[in-house]
Amino acid sequence: MSSQTRGMPTCSHLDQIRNPPPLSNGCEECLRTGQRWVALRECLTCGHVGCCDSTPGRHARAHFHETKHPLIEPLGGGKWTWCYIDDAYVDRAEGAQPQP
Ligand SMILES: [Zn+2]
Ligand SMILES: [Zn+2]
Ligand SMILES: [Zn+2]
Repeated sequence: MSSQTRGMPTCSHLDQIRNPPPLSNGCEECLRTGQRWVALRECLTCGHVGCCDSTPGRHARAHFHETKHPLIEPLGGGKWTWCYIDDAYVDRAEGAQPQP
């Protein structure tokens, strides 16, 4: 279980992606406490919206610690996907085929 591929690590958690709609359009924890967030992350397993690691609350990461949902992407984005377990960006493309 230690095979390293060139550059991008292989994420074995992609089967947890369910492409849910976002549950909210802001970080509910921050809204409740009146904090401001820097950026928002959406959980790809349940649609929870939390703030990023540049925000003091780090509620997206807190959600991972609570639920073990490892994969997030920018809210409304899909430009990249981050896996908290692998601690790395992951390629969501099936099988990560190289583009011609
Ligand atoms: Zn992973
Ligand atoms: Zn927050
Ligand atoms: Zn979740």
